[in-house]
Amino acid sequence: MTNREEWFLKAVEQLKQKVFGPHGYSIPKFRCGVGWPTGNRKKVGAQCFDSKNSGDKTYEIFVSPKFDEPYEIIEMLVHELCHAIAGIAAGHRKEFIAVMKAVGMVKPWTGSKAGDVLTPVLETVVNEIGPYPHAKLGQKDRIRSRLQGFLKSNVHSANTLLALLGNG
Ligand SMILES: [Zn+2]
Repeated sequence: MTNREEWFLKAVEQLKQKVFGPHGYSIPKFRCGVGWPTGNRKKVGAQCFDSKNSGDKTYEIFVSPKFDEPYEIIEMLVHELCHAIAGIAAGHRKEFIAVMKAVGMVKPWTGSKAGDVLTPVLETVVNEIGPYPHAKLGQKDRIRSRLQGFLKSNVHSANTLLALLGNG
């Protein structure tokens, strides 16, 4: 049985052989796992953290647990690996765009969309590595508890104001 990290390793090995290698790119030292992104949880699918911030100078890629569609995750992996190759400092600008274009990704550069040539290649990667051993994780409970907290604090404020007004 494959766990998630093994699945990512298999995926990146395939991407090395079929996508990055043929274009002359080598992938720097990395680890890849599942984790909630920092910043906007709703919008961000995956993130790549700079090797500069790592204790052993490793790029760290995290894929949000809310995704479980293998093809979509492979596209996100390609995007994040382009960040690692171009250097995080490049952001979504020049050097990053050059790598994205070379391997067959298309605009918008903040997104993770494969073009017509790359799409079938990524499909073969998905077929090769098998099912993603993960199930979509929602966050309804988290939203509910935050909403409850918000309501409680506002009820508290309302009660404080009423107390200040007194009985008059
Ligand atoms: Zn990005």
